[in-house]
Amino acid sequence: MKRRKVYIGAILIALAALAVALFNNEGRPANRTYYRNEGKVFGTYYNVRYDAERDLSEAIDSAFAAFDRSLSMFNPESVISAVNQNRDTVTDERFEQMWAQAMQVSEWSNGAFDITVAPLVNLWGFGFKHREEVTQEKIDSIMPLIGWQKVKLEGKKVVKEDARIMLDASAVAKGQACDVIAEVLRQHGAENWLVDIGGEVVAHGISDKGEAWRIGITKPVDDPMGTENELQDIIEVTDIAMATSGNYRNFYYEGKERRSHTIDPRTGRPVQHSLLSATVVAESCMKADALATACMVLGAEDAMELIEKAGAACYLIVSENDSLAVRKSKNWKW
Ligand code: ADP
Ligand code: MG
Repeated sequence: MKRRKVYIGAILIALAALAVALFNNEGRPANRTYYRNEGKVFGTYYNVRYDAERDLSEAIDSAFAAFDRSLSMFNPESVISAVNQNRDTVTDERFEQMWAQAMQVSEWSNGAFDITVAPLVNLWGFGFKHREEVTQEKIDSIMPLIGWQKVKLEGKKVVKEDARIMLDASAVAKGQACDVIAEVLRQHGAENWLVDIGGEVVAHGISDKGEAWRIGITKPVDDPMGTENELQDIIEVTDIAMATSGNYRNFYYEGKERRSHTIDPRTGRPVQHSLLSATVVAESCMKADALATACMVLGAEDAMELIEKAGAACYLIVSENDSLAVRKSKNWKW
């Protein structure tokens, strides 16, 4: 009996010693250096933190470059630009991933989400072309070019019903890039990371402080410069893919009319309703990103329905009687 107690004691001491060896006194995993890479990409910022044996900024940069060659509308040599300009091209893996996700969310949202909005996005001054004066006539002339069912992916070729149809992957690309960077980190041996591209986030494991990652949900107050960053909430997570869409950064006024960068493909006009921001958690950041934009098109009520259909979770901020109110889906657990 006594002997067994001694054994158990010895085992406990050994376990304690092992814990001390694995974690230093701040709870940080020992022998794991955390790196931080920051910069600009897709017209926004990125901030990547991870533990690894060495700095992985080269691998991260080359993943971004490959992404740019596939999905950037601002790169005239990209696959998506070639599709938009009717030049001969074949799709690549990134493009095909984007396509599958975008079409799925178009279907779930009955076309509220639609990557063929590009001509409208340009018309309203949020695309790669400069803003024009918007008239109902111009909207009417563009509407026949809008519709996710007017484009097909046949093998590695995009086939368009009308050559003037153009694609805009901005509402999926940042989230998709978060997933891609997280995968690059995993492949290079990282065990813990936080990938943030313009507010779309993939987190895994623990932070350099040995704790869950802390992620802010931005308060949707008008912030055209993106400098305010007041927070509505902070969540603590160890494994998440999350994206936020809002109309508090990318908008402008035409007279008294507020024009946001979320366009309703069904009316051809920027959306106007009380939903100020939509934060979505899904199994991939790409899916969360597309769903968040779809929520912004649909408004709070229909957004809840979409999120349920898509098997995701959401945190919506709506304006109610001049103040902000939060609506969470039942399965929001953070
Ligand atoms: P952010 O770029 O602020 O993260 P989103 O992910 O919501 O916001 O993407 C908004 C962009 O998506 C717009 O700037 C536009 O290029 C494109 N977009 C606008 N309306 C739609 C829509 N209904 N469906 C798909 N993409 C859209
Ligand atoms: Mg989006």
